[in-house]
Amino acid sequence: MDKIKIKKEYQKKIKNLINLNRHYYELSKPLVEDQEYDQIKSEIFSLEKKYNFLKSEDSPSKKVGYKPSKTFKKVLHKVSMLSLSNAFSEEDLINFEKKIINFLDKDSLFEIEYSAEPKIDGISASLTYKKGKFVMGLSRGDGKEGEDITQNLKTIIDIPKEILIKDFPDDIDVRGEVFIGNKDFEKIKDKFANPRNAASGSLRQKNPNDTKKIPLKFIAYTFGHEKGMKVQKQNEYLQKLKEWGFKTNPFNKTLKGVQNLMNNYYEIEKKRNEIDFDIDGIVYKINDFNLQKRLGNVANSPRWAIAHKFSANKGVSKILNIDIQVGRTGALTPVAKIKPINIGGVVVSNATLHNEDEIIRKDIRINDTVIVERAGDVIPHIVKVDLKKRIKDSKKYHFPKECPSCGAKTIKDFNTITKREDAVRRCSSEGYECEKIAIEKIKHFVSKEAFNIDGFGKKIVENFWKLKFVRLPQDIFNLNFEKIETLDGWGKQSVLNLKYAIDKKKNISFERFIYSLGIRHIGFENAKLIAKTLKSPESFVNLSKDDKFDDLLNIDGIGETQINSIKNFYKNKTNLNIINNLQKILNIKRATENKKGGVLSNKTFMLTGKLNGISRAEAKSLIEKNSGSIISNVSKKLDYLIIGEKPTNRKIEAAKQLNIKIINQSEWLRLINKTS
Ligand code: NAD
Repeated sequence: MDKIKIKKEYQKKIKNLINLNRHYYELSKPLVEDQEYDQIKSEIFSLEKKYNFLKSEDSPSKKVGYKPSKTFKKVLHKVSMLSLSNAFSEEDLINFEKKIINFLDKDSLFEIEYSAEPKIDGISASLTYKKGKFVMGLSRGDGKEGEDITQNLKTIIDIPKEILIKDFPDDIDVRGEVFIGNKDFEKIKDKFANPRNAASGSLRQKNPNDTKKIPLKFIAYTFGHEKGMKVQKQNEYLQKLKEWGFKTNPFNKTLKGVQNLMNNYYEIEKKRNEIDFDIDGIVYKINDFNLQKRLGNVANSPRWAIAHKFSANKGVSKILNIDIQVGRTGALTPVAKIKPINIGGVVVSNATLHNEDEIIRKDIRINDTVIVERAGDVIPHIVKVDLKKRIKDSKKYHFPKECPSCGAKTIKDFNTITKREDAVRRCSSEGYECEKIAIEKIKHFVSKEAFNIDGFGKKIVENFWKLKFVRLPQDIFNLNFEKIETLDGWGKQSVLNLKYAIDKKKNISFERFIYSLGIRHIGFENAKLIAKTLKSPESFVNLSKDDKFDDLLNIDGIGETQINSIKNFYKNKTNLNIINNLQKILNIKRATENKKGGVLSNKTFMLTGKLNGISRAEAKSLIEKNSGSIISNVSKKLDYLIIGEKPTNRKIEAAKQLNIKIINQSEWLRLINKTS
């Protein structure tokens, strides 16, 4: 590219950014997602780095925010309000620390002390106090000049209007973040794109009475101009702020060493969802004000601070298609096939759309540009459609009224409790007549809590289905192993292993048998209750013959929904055929009584995390067999919290606070073995 073309390209990007800034900062109505904005910004930075002839006063490397709006009086900041440079990785932090050590000409053993403060995603404000009185409040504006929003700021309860404490400086600009709590945002979320825009929009209302309607909060963290302040360190200043009556961030910490910064970063990132306001990273500030002064500023940010941003959990993509998956109970789940995007290091190409109602509510269409979110291990989902990018002849998505697998009518159940139709649409066949449902039912049959056949995973089910080796559960016990041995990937030993694993499971507990049938609304807990009550497998089979369904009504936990579902199950001829066949093949054990007065008698347990080599269901039944019981909340009623791999820290913390015994898997097993 020649120089002129490069310059033109650069100017175009700058112009675009100015427009985006205006919508974001002045109008509080962003045109694009932050990720897209940051992408354009980083493209500008790369161009500037590559071609040193590219310069602009409007470049984001020079400018902060956007010029003050005409709605308010403009006022110069005595000390500029800057932006922050960003770090995204441990390496960035190491480099940041190295640069500081070099700048200060210290040796590498010099330990820097930081104030680590969660970065609240709100908007900054500068509050001028003279002789203890709040006299003026400004927005950041373009960093040099802010908007006089004193009257609006006065409506915020967290902002002290008068401070009569002795050591409060005579003249000071206290600075901090104005924001809205997530719970409060929920109430007004239809009007704003996100909490930050809601805070910015309401803080900068023409009429302070409109600001007053929105519960804004303020957390203080720094200062601009000051006269008469005796504090030497940032953490001391934060302490003083509290004494003077300001709110400060409860998660602020003083730390040394990059490793400790990283540990704190991960800890806070984990807590992010539990905190009632948006934070988008951690700000690290050199704690010592003298060092801060020596380090000074670069163009638009201080050299002594950096914002360590949390990894993005959202991205912008396009819906290429909508696939309908049919589940074991006939539920149709729409899945968006999206243009692959990298979100926080993971390439995402599918996003769940949950159900028909969700598609209608968000008006999601094929070809739409969408915001996709991936949080933790949860399946990525579509947050919203970018309507401005919708193509002209876009058509509403019509959910299939026929099952894409078998062509049967799709229906929505009427929920007698909520008196509304279910959100989920289902294939009306709900049985082995529908290919997709049949495959899922067989997967369920061999799954961990059901028959748990070693080595018989989902892939094998799909493969054996394709080869027509299995159509119904009983086929698993009549497989032609000679044929299997000839298949790619199978050998003598693996076939022997499979045969052994299947044979072993011909002895099955009654409760697992009931659960394996995959009757809707009969999960493992209900299967256990039914087995315990009916005791013999024969009585379960005879339920329909003798029309004894009402006997089940006496079981605590089994209601009409479950009984109707069992009735429907028996109405289907294929199901009867399966039960009759399995009964001949299997040795279904009678339900055993739980030991009364067992070693765990009167003891309550709760599990968190994954156990090693034992399923949740088995662990539960082991506890119950020994007269213990499982409870689902950490409360005073809990005696033991059993922790496996990757436990939920919140539960551990809660247990610690209540002095509940926390034990690992082997300690728990010892508890049973010791006296049983
Ligand atoms: P920044 O978010 O990068 O960081 C500086 C700000 O951090 C300060 O002004 C202050 O408000 C805040 N902060 C919170 N806690 C702090 C603490 N303890 N100490 C110091 N500061 C603290 O600031 P920026 O440069 O104004 O904004 C850039 C951000 O705005 C980016 O995330 C960008 O994506 C977004 N943006 C989006 C659009 C859009 O169109 N979507 C447009 C403009 C900007």
